[in-house]
Amino acid sequence: MERVQCVVIGAGVVGLALARTLARAGQEVLVLEAEDRIGTGISSRNSEVVHAGIYYPAGSLKARTCVAGNRLLYAFCEAHGVACRRLGKLIVAQADQRDALRGIQAKAAANGVALDWLEAEAVGELEPDLRCAAALHSPTTGIVDSHGLMRALALDAEAHGATVALRSPVVGGQVGRDGIELRIGGEDPVSLRAERVFNAAGLGAQAVARRLEGLAPETVPPQFLSKGNYYGLSGKAPFARLVYPIPSQGALGVHLTLDLAGQARFGPDVEWIERETYDVDPRRADSFYAEVRTYWPGLPDGALQPAYAGIRPKIHGPGEPQPDFLIQTEAVHGVPGLVNLYGIESPGLTASLALAEEVADRAGFPAASAR
Ligand SMILES: Cc1cc2nc3c(=O)[nH]c(=O)nc-3n(C[C@H](O)[C@H](O)[C@H](O)COP(=O)(O)OP(=O)(O)OC[C@H]3O[C@@H](n4cnc5c(N)ncnc54)[C@H](O)[C@@H]3O)c2cc1C
Repeated sequence: MERVQCVVIGAGVVGLALARTLARAGQEVLVLEAEDRIGTGISSRNSEVVHAGIYYPAGSLKARTCVAGNRLLYAFCEAHGVACRRLGKLIVAQADQRDALRGIQAKAAANGVALDWLEAEAVGELEPDLRCAAALHSPTTGIVDSHGLMRALALDAEAHGATVALRSPVVGGQVGRDGIELRIGGEDPVSLRAERVFNAAGLGAQAVARRLEGLAPETVPPQFLSKGNYYGLSGKAPFARLVYPIPSQGALGVHLTLDLAGQARFGPDVEWIERETYDVDPRRADSFYAEVRTYWPGLPDGALQPAYAGIRPKIHGPGEPQPDFLIQTEAVHGVPGLVNLYGIESPGLTASLALAEEVADRAGFPAASAR
């Protein structure tokens, strides 16, 4: 049976960043991807926002890897010619929301993220059509070409010796005394033995873990699916920056993001679902209009069209507190060489390079020197 040092399951942004980090640390790396292309999962259906690290609890993995990942991502994009733009973001407050805005500024400061306070007049100079009493400006928030990023990560990983195997779904496995045996389905089913297995399968992470004989099933967290629907704005974008209202009930609110072509869209909203489906119901946009008009009264009737949807790989149900990214190593599940990544929702794209270093460090590889 073929033997490999490190197997990464999943060629999304996290798996590819991890493969690159491990390969740069001198490891032999094989990436197993179920689909016939890299990056067709969660990484292809998101806002492509490079977050600053504003809302996450201080000291959490989300906060740490987002703040560090933001810097690493811009540097990587610059070095590898990946399109990205630091557009900046405005978090807007109406008259009765000033205290909430101050709370956000303090939370960001606790994460080491400086946000500038702007009164309405200063906001008007930046974005004349935006209505608010005050706003916070985040200069380090931006957007990135997520597909370009994943291609560049894959190329750099391959340049350091990694192999990406497409159409290679992991369909089962067994924990042995001498590594972990993985069964790979597809046209030519094959088995291999890996010293280390990194499960970065996104929405498939729990299913992969449950199929590993020898891993205690009670260590696998439950999976919940939360769909985020996007609605494109027909016509010219009204703002040059990303615009977010004050978050409410654990959601970021109906916000405006821009793509690299300058096209605006609103979303994602939160729709809890039972099974994977990417349909976007046009009627859900009805509730967007009132919310958006609190900060952009100029939104014309009928301007929002269904665009696309993505699914957050949640490990908590509706109404439950947001948990942190979950990295499970031997210390938790008792299986030497196995690392499971669960609940890698937003800001996973931003955090990917820092998360890769965190995982590599926990697995015992000196990642910092591998940059
Ligand atoms: C609506 C939405 C908006 C978001 N917006 C942002 C944002 O603006 N900024 C940000 O930083 N983050 C954002 N995120 C989060 C970010 O997109 C994710 O954290 C990130 O893309 C997760 O990457 P991943 O590699 O873990 O998962 P994926 O990209 O899903 O990769 C997992 C891969 O594993 C493969 N796979 C699954 N099962 C198997 C198997 N059995 N064998 C082999 N391969 C398998 C899949 O085919 C897939 O390619 C958003 C997420 C959502 C849902």
